[in-house]
Order: sequence, then structure tokens, then C-alpha cells
Amino acid sequence: MEKYDLVVRGKIVGEDRVISGQIGVKDGKIATIQPAGEQLLGDKVLDFENAYVFPGTIDVHVHCFSNPKEGFIPTSMSAAAGGITTFLDMPYDLPNPISNVEIFEKKVQQLEKEAVVDICLWGTISKTGGTEQIVPLAEAGAVAFKMSTFETDAYRFPRIPDPEILKAMQLIEQTGLRAAFHSENDEIIVDMIDEYKQANKVYPKAHNETRPPLTETSAVLKLMEFAYWTGVKLHIVHVSHPRTIDLIKQFKAQGVKVTCETCYPYLLLDINALDEFGPKAKNNPPLRHPEEVAGLWQHLEAGDIELISSDHGEGRTWGWSSGRLVAVASAACLSSCCLRVKPTRSLPCSVPAVLLTRKGQSAFI
Ligand SMILES: [Zn+2]
Repeated sequence: MEKYDLVVRGKIVGEDRVISGQIGVKDGKIATIQPAGEQLLGDKVLDFENAYVFPGTIDVHVHCFSNPKEGFIPTSMSAAAGGITTFLDMPYDLPNPISNVEIFEKKVQQLEKEAVVDICLWGTISKTGGTEQIVPLAEAGAVAFKMSTFETDAYRFPRIPDPEILKAMQLIEQTGLRAAFHSENDEIIVDMIDEYKQANKVYPKAHNETRPPLTETSAVLKLMEFAYWTGVKLHIVHVSHPRTIDLIKQFKAQGVKVTCETCYPYLLLDINALDEFGPKAKNNPPLRHPEEVAGLWQHLEAGDIELISSDHGEGRTWGWSSGRLVAVASAACLSSCCLRVKPTRSLPCSVPAVLLTRKGQSAFI
């Protein structure tokens, strides 16, 4: 009987089923997955009995350098500890966003020295006049492009004006890559925050009230219409509201190539976390009301949401986990999201390799 380098036993979570079984690993690769029964032989055997054995998780939305003191080393180590074997790092780095080839290449060199899991890199463009970098960044290996309709920071994380979005989409369409957006209506949010401040309405849930659902849906609608006319593959990151998914379904039915992602906090927490955790539960877009969270779950269970990601950023996102532990929490939460959806079909966690990566790119082998 063939002997494997490593045999792992337990409840094995596959793409469309969970089986009590065993995995045989040879030369660092999975050679076989067998149901329980006749036991595989291995130099090393790990028996997890009734515990779940998950495949390595892919997290498409991570920010290693929102705080440059974090960087690749602690993030990728905590990712590995949490079962995330590949992640895609966002381009909104401090001090410089990944908006040209020179900065991109420098990040690749750093990644090759420091990463302990596979990492792919997103690219972005500067607020104006940056679109000429799109094709070179794609050629250099950026896996997709991230842009924003909301201004988090004028230089690092800008709101891209409509004419630049249009140009960017036309160019990204030619590369065959995907254009992804942080989608919130900047003007309405800025105006509402001003009004709230002037009226001294300053309390945790004001963060939700100044970013009502229409600030997400109206931004997404515009982008989908642009995608209709340019033919670009569009991806909406961190969707917080079920109506956004309703609209995405309508545009999909018209042939627009639009996909979306939500993040586990939008599924596992709600607006009440703002009172409980204060600013630590602040994220853009904000946590929603429990009935809206239930609507997101319905869409997830119906297969309308392609991906679940963490949107990890040190000290910024879901600060109730301190920096290094966030990825461990991510993996646990992603796993619990996956398990809550009965695995009768492809789980969102298995999609990113197809959706946001490039054929033949070694990082995903
Ligand atoms: Zn993000």
C-alpha cells in the first residue's frame, strides 16, 4: 500500500460536501482525499477526529500597509496561523499607494523577502491623470485594480472623478482584469456628517445614520451603468446591504459582468456593535440593522454573493481583535460563515482563485 509523507484525518470540508475522511500528502501536495475506512499509511499522521479540516482559505481583501508598522511579516504569519494560505493585498499603502510600476516592483521585492504565505497585489490609480499606469501595472503583475467613489484620503485613497473612472474602465477592460470599487456616495456622506456635527449629534450609531443604504446603492448603480457601456469586469467590494445585491442581480441579468463581496463582520455583527465597541466597530460602509444583515444572509445562501473577505487592516478594522490576531479571527469567522451555508454548492471561499487571479500565476499554484 502506498505510503504518504503526511496523513490528515477529520471531517474534511470540500468544495461541495463535508466528509469524514483522510487526506494523503506527498511532496507537499495533496495526493488523495479518501473517505474514512481503510486507513492510509503516513510517515506522520494527524488525527483530528470530529474536528473540521478546512482547505487553505483565500482572503481577497487585506490591507498590510494601512499602518506601515504592520507590513507583510506579522500579517502573513497571522494569516498562516489562521489557515489563510493566500491573500490579495490592497493598494492603499502608507505612505504611497500602489499607483505606478516603480512602487509596485518595490512592493514585489519586499513581498518575496518577507511573505510566509502566497500574496497577490492589487493596483490602483492616482486621483487624476493616473490611468496611463493601468496597462504597465497589469503587465507588471497586478491582479486587479481597486478604486473608490469615496475620498478616504486625497492622495492615498482618493475619490476618483467620473471621467477618470470611465477612462480607467476602458483601459482595464483591455487588460482583461477586474475593476473593483469601494462604493459610497461621497457628496451625501460628507454633507450628512456636516449636518450631524453642526447639530451636535455625535454618538456611535451616527456613523450608520450618516451613511444610509442609498449612499452605497446609488454609488453601485452608477458603476454598473459605466460597466454596461465599457464592458469592463466590475467587482463591488465589502457590500453591506441586501438591496445592493438586488440591484447587482438586475444588472447581471442584463449581461453586465459584475461580481461582489461582503465581509464577515457584515454577516456576523450588526449596528448594535457600534454601541458595544464604539469606534472600534466603525467601518465604511457601516454595520447595518439586524433585518438587513438577515437579508445579506439570504443572498449568501441563494448564491448571490461571490466572495467573503476580511478587509483586514491593522488597528483599523474590527479592533476588538488586536492586529496580529485578526487573521486568526478572520479564518475562524470565514469558516463559520462557510459552515452556516449548507455546503450543497460551491462556497464563496473557493471562488477567488477563479475570479481575481490570473491564469498561470505561480502564487496560486
Ligand atoms: Zn478594504
